[in-house]
Amino acid sequence: MSKNNNKLMVIGGGLAGCEAAWQAAERGISVEIYEMRPKVTTGAHTGGDLAELVCSNSLGSNLKDRASGVLKEELRIAGSLLVECAEKAAVPAGNALAVDRKVFSSEIENRLTGHSGIKIIREEIKHIPDDRPVILASGPLSSPSISQEITKICGTDNLFFYDAIAPIIEYSSIDLNTAYIASRYDKNNEDDGDYINCPFSKDEYEAFVNALTSAQRIPLKTFEADIDSGVQAGKMSFFEGCLPVEVLAGRSMQALAFGPMRPVGLIDPRTGKRPWAVLQLRQDNLSGSLYNMVGFQTNLLHKEQERVFRMIPGLENAQFVRYGQMHRNTYICAPGVLNASLQMIKHPSVFFAGQLCGVEGYMGNIAAGLLAGINASRYINGGKLLTLPDEMISGALFKYISSSDPKHFQPMKANFGILPPLENKTKSKRERYLLYSQRALNKANELFRKE
Ligand SMILES: Cc1cc2nc3c(=O)[nH]c(=O)nc-3n(C[C@H](O)[C@H](O)[C@H](O)COP(=O)(O)OP(=O)(O)OC[C@H]3O[C@@H](n4cnc5c(N)ncnc54)[C@H](O)[C@@H]3O)c2cc1C
Repeated sequence: MSKNNNKLMVIGGGLAGCEAAWQAAERGISVEIYEMRPKVTTGAHTGGDLAELVCSNSLGSNLKDRASGVLKEELRIAGSLLVECAEKAAVPAGNALAVDRKVFSSEIENRLTGHSGIKIIREEIKHIPDDRPVILASGPLSSPSISQEITKICGTDNLFFYDAIAPIIEYSSIDLNTAYIASRYDKNNEDDGDYINCPFSKDEYEAFVNALTSAQRIPLKTFEADIDSGVQAGKMSFFEGCLPVEVLAGRSMQALAFGPMRPVGLIDPRTGKRPWAVLQLRQDNLSGSLYNMVGFQTNLLHKEQERVFRMIPGLENAQFVRYGQMHRNTYICAPGVLNASLQMIKHPSVFFAGQLCGVEGYMGNIAAGLLAGINASRYINGGKLLTLPDEMISGALFKYISSSDPKHFQPMKANFGILPPLENKTKSKRERYLLYSQRALNKANELFRKE
């Protein structure tokens, strides 16, 4: 048996990797954490700091009626190192937890270096070892060599390099007096299932296409330029099948009506007529509280998505739980590859954490690091792995990534729509969110008091 069998390797000293290393070390495990920066850069990070925040310095809301606020509180209850350091590095930001990024990173680095169970090694890992347990936390900008290795262990079809994400909206915000439920040609075949259809007249469609093509887009960063050049040259087969809707709409007035918005076989049962064009909404979670805008991956500014997509008949009051986006993002197709404990199904000594496992956003990435660290230590100690209750935002996120439909899998961020429904229904959104929050935090307290 190898001498490394009990030594945990964490690949990536980002948000997830640092939290994972801490959690495992606190449980008596000897941890080596490998970070390739500053020797090798990602193009988005600026230096060699551990847990460098690549963009915003805000870790989201602190409010208990916001999903990110609840997730943060779950992490506090669970004893997250990174949330503790964020609080020490906090800067005034109203109801949000925002940090001085330099102070945040140095707090974390000091705590990790001061832990006798943790060794920080500044080196790029190019191969996934098979003689010791590993947590892969190399993030959305994983280096090419480790990405290749991940492809080898997960399968070529299970690693994505870019996100072209369509928005997700709350079912309760769809106007079903205008939109209607139907399958194409009224067949319940595998591809068409039951969709919600938003019907356009000719005038509505043309006004929509004009607004869409003239709306403001998010500028791409230098390290993402290959996305843009690939799209413009029309040579990247991935994007030809997954073009942003505004790019497709710019090709001709009818491009969408013959493409993702084709109305064939979608007779409106109330008029008996076929609309000029149709936007289809596909159920996105088991409970049916979230719907995905089919074929509407987009790179518009968030406020422009709200303005333009609320022109869609039936979506005038749409509430977006996730906006569409396009960016460089390495992530695995977690359903079928990972279980809800973030352990690989085929290779039980390998765990995934952070953005790489299909969780979106700083807080979700920290939560994934926390769970992977706990479970890697349990694995090494021969214990039963932990699965978080799906009433918790974190538990619901890990359930989502491990059990959603792999055919349409895309990363998910913290939101109330992924939680199981409440026993007592209430119409007030604020009250509903507070009830979700109480239920989640009760579960977290119950669980982590025993931990
Ligand atoms: C450009 C960009 C902007 C983003 N902005 C936001 C935002 O504003 N708000 C938000 O909530 N989320 C944002 N995200 C999403 C995500 O929450 C962050 O990227 C977050 O830092 C991910 O955490 P992580 O731990 O998974 O990865 P990271 O924090 O990126 O950590 C991964 C680490 O692994 C290292 N690494 C990579 N390959 C290797 C290797 N082979 N060997 C050793 N080390 C390696 C990297 O250098 C990095 O330090 C953004 C993502 C990107 C790409």
